[in-house]
Amino acid sequence: MNARGLDGLSTEEACSRLARHGPNELPAARQNSLLRLVRGIVLEPMFLLLLACGAIYLALGDMHEALMLLAFVFVIMGISFSQQRRAERSLLALRDISSPRALVVRDRRAVRIAGREVVPGDIVLLAEGDRVPADMRLLESASLTVDESMLSGESVPVMKHAAPGATQGSDSAVYAGTPVTQGTGRGEVTATGAKSALGRIGMSLGGIEKETTPVQKETRRIVNVVAVAGLALAAVLAGAYGAMRQDWLGGLLAGITFAMAVVPEELPVVLALFLGLGAWRLSRAQVLTRNIPAVELLGATTVLCVDKTGTLTVNRMRVRTLWSEQAEHDLPQQGAPAVPESLHGVLEYAVLASHRQAFDPMEAAIGHAGAELLADTEHLHRDWTLVSDYPLSREMLAMSRVWQSPDLQNRVIAAKGAPEAIIDLCHLDPGRSAGIVAAAGRLAAGGLRVLGVAEAAFPRQALPVSQHDFAFRFVGLIALEDPVRADVPAAIAECRAAGIRVVMMTGDHPNTAMSIARQAGLTVDGDALTGADIDAFDDETLRSRLPQTNVFCRVQPQHKLRLVQSLRASGEIVAMTGDGINDAPALKAAHIGVAMGARGTDVAREAADLVLLNDDFASLLTAVRYGRRVTGNLRKAFVFLVAAHTPIIGLSIAPLLAGWPMLLMPVHILFLQLIIDPSCSLVFEAEPLETGAMQARPRRPEARLFDATVLSRGLWQGGGVLLILLAVFALARQVGQSDEAARAVMFAALVLSSIGLIQVNRNWGMLPSGMLGSANPYFAWMLVATLALLAAVLAVPPVRSLFAFSMPDLRLALVGAAASVLCVGWCEWTRRRLQGRALRRP
Ligand code: ADP
Ligand code: MG
Repeated sequence: MNARGLDGLSTEEACSRLARHGPNELPAARQNSLLRLVRGIVLEPMFLLLLACGAIYLALGDMHEALMLLAFVFVIMGISFSQQRRAERSLLALRDISSPRALVVRDRRAVRIAGREVVPGDIVLLAEGDRVPADMRLLESASLTVDESMLSGESVPVMKHAAPGATQGSDSAVYAGTPVTQGTGRGEVTATGAKSALGRIGMSLGGIEKETTPVQKETRRIVNVVAVAGLALAAVLAGAYGAMRQDWLGGLLAGITFAMAVVPEELPVVLALFLGLGAWRLSRAQVLTRNIPAVELLGATTVLCVDKTGTLTVNRMRVRTLWSEQAEHDLPQQGAPAVPESLHGVLEYAVLASHRQAFDPMEAAIGHAGAELLADTEHLHRDWTLVSDYPLSREMLAMSRVWQSPDLQNRVIAAKGAPEAIIDLCHLDPGRSAGIVAAAGRLAAGGLRVLGVAEAAFPRQALPVSQHDFAFRFVGLIALEDPVRADVPAAIAECRAAGIRVVMMTGDHPNTAMSIARQAGLTVDGDALTGADIDAFDDETLRSRLPQTNVFCRVQPQHKLRLVQSLRASGEIVAMTGDGINDAPALKAAHIGVAMGARGTDVAREAADLVLLNDDFASLLTAVRYGRRVTGNLRKAFVFLVAAHTPIIGLSIAPLLAGWPMLLMPVHILFLQLIIDPSCSLVFEAEPLETGAMQARPRRPEARLFDATVLSRGLWQGGGVLLILLAVFALARQVGQSDEAARAVMFAALVLSSIGLIQVNRNWGMLPSGMLGSANPYFAWMLVATLALLAAVLAVPPVRSLFAFSMPDLRLALVGAAASVLCVGWCEWTRRRLQGRALRRP
């Protein structure tokens, strides 16, 4: 290997190359999002209705009103635009952190950098599960196999070999975007970004998709139904008004005003905003959402299937016990005591069976123990060279490495792996096997991960295809400790309280699995099931065993897939963690696939909906919490929207029935829409999780977010407000006040009670006194802004006349204030009445 292959580029050199060649990314298919946003807004019904109103005002010769509506058009566009931009920007931010990373050598050290910062000439280290970040020429490889189907269309893994100096196109070239299915390698980057083979054929790797969620579909349906019904009613209203008063333009205006009040065009925006911002908030809690609908499903998750190693445990291992058939030795936490000579071989061959620069914490621990405990012995063979290796496979949970010593004729083969696998490789008689199995079981029952170690010598040059063809001699067992993460027991207890089952899946020994499960606080009433059990069961039997089993051991990726499928078939909402390249199908099959940011492979992360950036079980629980928060807050926003629109609709119809002048004109409805709706989505979106939300059972998956409970609660609240407002207006007219003054008082009461509705619905569990103190800066801002605008509308004469108001006298103002208090009181009362019942269901 050349020297550059070891040193890599210097940071300065890499910077200047980055400036010269540009970032290593493909020109994204980012269409002109600005234009698309504007088009979306222009086609919004609200916008069209406003235009129609403007046209009518013009036809009526009302230049002022027409101009004012035009001004509102711009404000509406602005607000709509900024809300959608906010949702969109949160997605873009996510896309940036989710971009693949690469392990490169810079300034002689291996560092992980963003894939877009890779430059030509970089030395990149590849391992199983990575996506090759750029086109490269291999300098070194060990069983490196890549899947080039995305370039060639043929889905056959291709073996690649290092050939320094070879030209492009030979089998030493690997290409950007292809996943490494096996082995490791080191290569020099030849082309990046658009100049790579992938870039030349103009492909792009999917980033974060903006998909339609089930709730979004549901919302669209509701919006369509309500819009059609509203428009029909508006037409009837317009006709009736026109016919009764012989004023067709006025009727049209009343109809359009009504339509503006009922068409729930803000619902989809609210939804996109809640989900997008939810994902953005999650990213700040170190959980990356790759698939936005996952946020919504998280709240309904019933089963979390998690890996043991690294998710429940810290994944920092330490060699605890060495065992051979003659001796056993425990290593204390501190210090490096002398290990009995008879056990040196166990450690010696365990080290030889590991990678020298280990990625795997287990191998790192073995290497560390070897360096410490065998320091002054002849058992560390730093001058030996690696000839070949046999990686771990699904069929054989053991790996071997073949060494050449400078002064020995024979090659030395060292193997380590699951004790059963090593016993199998050594072809031991039943008596010896039983002794080893018993010792392994005993060590594993203490929660240790136990590996068997074996060695063999091989005289010939040509190595066999299978590890079985070596004559292995059993050396001993090595047991490693990997403690449970400190925050895991509490997190699992919280899951149990929240009605979420936690299931452990591991490739480890049954005893180790059960011991760790117990330490973590999983329910371990039933026995553990093994991968072999799962294979032996038919679907029916498997499904019948699932409810009692929370620990699955010696499982492999295909078993995870079957578990997910069975759990799904039993009606569970399944979140599953995985990190290996073979976990991708199970991650895809789960409702919510979860990959690990640090430990997980690129392939697993791409298949996942969520990526835990700090690999930790507790953050999965955090994600569930956020999921419940988002769905809970959405329901609150929905209730508010129903409640706020009910009086508006009622006040649009009432004048017709009562023979009153029009109560609400387009400008009033615009005021309400502009102030109340956006601030409500901000306020509700920022509401924290309800106390008690994590003690409730998960939302039933088939349950709609927008259901009868939401509707009836909103109608109750809004209906009461409507009646009070109508009473105020009737009273004001009765006592001989002008229509304008009555309208002003009624409108002020409407605005104030809308704010009251927001406040009341912010939190369904807490009492209002506690709630006023709870921090939600948006609410304070909204309150101040709304009050200021309301004051302006009432106090500034030109605006006042635009709103067809006149200044009420003190008596009337007091009536308005009393009505507002009454409205809020009514909402609060309904909240408490209804709270005990249906709304306990999250
Ligand atoms: P886990 O679910 O705990 O991550 P793995 O699937 O990684 O388990 O490993 C399953 C089993 O495979 C281990 O219990 C061990 O016996 C064996 N194994 C894993 N990694 C290695 C390795 N690097 N060398 C030898 N054996 C290994
Ligand atoms: Mg593992």
